[in-house]
Amino acid sequence: MSIGLFRAPTPVNEPVRTYAPGSPERASLKAELARQSGLEVEAAPIVAGRPVHTGDTSPMVMPHDHRHRLGVFHKASAAEVHAAIDAAQAARPEWAALPWEERASVFLRAAALLRGPWRDRLNAATMLGQSKTAHQAEIDAACELIDFWSFNVQYLTEIMADQPLSPTGTWNRVEYRPLDGFVFAVSPFNFTSIAGNLPTAPALIGNTVVWKPASTSVLSGHVIMELLHEAGLPPGVINFLPGSGPAVGDPVLADSRLAGVHFTGSTDVFHGVWRTVGENIARYHQYPRLVGETGGKDFVFVHQSADVDTVVTALLRGAFEFQGQKCSAASRAYVPDTLWPKIRAGLGDGLAQIQMGDVADFRNFMGAVIDARSYAKLTGAVNEAKASVGKGVQEVLGGEHDDARGWFLGPSVIVATDPRYRTMCEELFGPVLTIYVYPAAEYAQTLDLCDSTSPYGLTGAVFARDRRAAHQALVRLRHAAGNFYVNDKPTGAVVGQQPFGGTRASGTNDKAGSAQNLGRWISARTIKETFDPPRRFSYPFMDEE
Ligand code: NAD
Repeated sequence: MSIGLFRAPTPVNEPVRTYAPGSPERASLKAELARQSGLEVEAAPIVAGRPVHTGDTSPMVMPHDHRHRLGVFHKASAAEVHAAIDAAQAARPEWAALPWEERASVFLRAAALLRGPWRDRLNAATMLGQSKTAHQAEIDAACELIDFWSFNVQYLTEIMADQPLSPTGTWNRVEYRPLDGFVFAVSPFNFTSIAGNLPTAPALIGNTVVWKPASTSVLSGHVIMELLHEAGLPPGVINFLPGSGPAVGDPVLADSRLAGVHFTGSTDVFHGVWRTVGENIARYHQYPRLVGETGGKDFVFVHQSADVDTVVTALLRGAFEFQGQKCSAASRAYVPDTLWPKIRAGLGDGLAQIQMGDVADFRNFMGAVIDARSYAKLTGAVNEAKASVGKGVQEVLGGEHDDARGWFLGPSVIVATDPRYRTMCEELFGPVLTIYVYPAAEYAQTLDLCDSTSPYGLTGAVFARDRRAAHQALVRLRHAAGNFYVNDKPTGAVVGQQPFGGTRASGTNDKAGSAQNLGRWISARTIKETFDPPRRFSYPFMDEE
């Protein structure tokens, strides 16, 4: 029972630490990296607050040094899935009945712990397990997750404050209930913050959750579970199920108590989830809410009035940071022929300067790609492009690769003469940027081309000093991206500043880190109370003249 109208602490975006030479944060992060590099962690499904060692294990390795084991994780089978759903259902009544400010306090405390004593631990696990540099881990595992946990509390209070009109003699109220069942959260490998947000956003409302992390990011997921436990999350509210996609997904999606799916990952997997939910629709107690943020083929569109240096910087950072493994990464660009010689020279200089290697060596701008399967797919595409010179491809810059120690693919630029060359259309999810050089006079036609080339609609950017050209792109590409940038790279959305999500094949666009997203985990109940109800059934117009 709440006995006050409480105001949540005003959220502020977490400042990004620099880790510059000589800084205290650099020394403590390096010490934590060394500590975790020497550990063998044993991660396991966590059901009703208890780890379950199934004995069916997979190794957790460093992508940049794949013989270095960081530990193992036990994989969930159908038995753990059923136990996790039962645990979520059992925890629901008490968790949902807890006053909202008590639930919010758990996540505000989690944010405070991550801001302080847990920061190095989660950053280091993300660096070692997902091959992120210190900066990439900091903006993800620390800052963005702190922001999700702090801002979501503020959004919840804004939602609850949205109440209907009550004419004299009545009181209309809307209750913001959790869904009537459990939520299935399914997270991708590439963002620790997304992994942390997918189960906790529904839980903040009072939902209980079954969370399946990606198999290549179990280490950071395991740390998040420990952090949430430390913050006071009761057992059973979030149940953690590492394991194979279908082994966990199929029994969850077959359960009649499924109330929602909070998914981020590839378009194909989400299609499969949606299809299965459709096939099972008659068994559920309600229509499950389906929220999915999926793939992208994000573009940078350059007008001839653009500033060359800002374009080159945006392409190098937007395409190659975290090895291009951001859903928002620039993976295709349209460059006018008038600027191409200068942009090509700038990219060539950048490629020559970019260092790649062990993320514990802070001079590196890039680490390795996530696993052997991704390495094979990406190097296959780069080699195919090299073999296609003269057949839709003009040249390939960079593209060096070697998997002897880690899964390393250097920054790769494919210059395509065919604007619908395979890598202009398909998501590869790696450090591969494809550029189409267009006749500067054909700006409008090339905007049409950009809009129709790929099925996705996640992020995009226009670079132009000419305001009319920028406006033309904003209008013509209105549905080509859910997050659109003017004279900025298409990556790096910040909670509270650029609510994130895409349309078309990129997802349901429910904008992670916003009130819109939280609304999907709520099933509102409207209550009308009449203080002095009518006492006769007939109306005045029926009375005698
Ligand atoms: P993925 O689709 O391979 O895996 C995502 C999750 O789905 C993992 O936990 C995986 O184990 C699980 N999964 C696989 N099969 C399943 C099944 N049958 N049932 C249930 N779960 C199943 O994606 P990934 O490689 O981890 O991440 C990269 C992808 O995620 C890219 O396509 C990227 O664009 C996308 N992504 C999108 C956003 C966004 O906001 N739009 C953000 C991050 C990543």
